[in-house]
Amino acid sequence: MLEIVTDSPEATRDVGAVMARNAVPGHVYLLAGDLGAGKTCLTQGILRGLGGKEYARSPTFVLTAEYEGRLRLYHFDLYRLESGSEFLDLGIDEYLEAGGVCVVEWADRFREWLPSDALDVSIDSLGESRRRFVFSGPRERYGGLMRELASVASGAAVHGGLCSF
Ligand code: ADP
Ligand code: MG
Repeated sequence: MLEIVTDSPEATRDVGAVMARNAVPGHVYLLAGDLGAGKTCLTQGILRGLGGKEYARSPTFVLTAEYEGRLRLYHFDLYRLESGSEFLDLGIDEYLEAGGVCVVEWADRFREWLPSDALDVSIDSLGESRRRFVFSGPRERYGGLMRELASVASGAAVHGGLCSF
């Protein structure tokens, strides 16, 4: 488990970019946190780190967005889903196995339906511009990514806005 605190949206995007640099095909990042916690902001950084030319937004009316990058990014937002059958209609399994990177906002709403060996990222607001990110996932799959995050965070190298406890 790894905990990182950022003190600006830009620092959060930098965290996402570090994740993306260490992303491998099939990685799944499950984001949990209230409205405004920073799930989409983190996703923007992930897309930037994958070399995407677009800017990720919360998929408001669609539940899924797809972006080009070093790896293809599949971005889901489960906020509006009301039932397990709606979730199944998304056909998320196909995306999970498509060899890209999947980022799922509000993953906690359907956590038991999603892969148990994914990277869970739980986000809390600590105030207007501070956010706490807690990362947990199987070491064999996400150890490299978390080590890299920890070393960048402890160096506080990124915009001076990243620190870890
Ligand atoms: P979510 O997708 O979780 O609902 P968003 O990423 O869309 O949240 O929005 C996060 C909001 O919080 C944005 O308005 C952003 O500017 C603000 N914010 C303030 N501080 C931070 C931070 N440290 N990290 C991320 N977002 C932050
Ligand atoms: Mg969002």
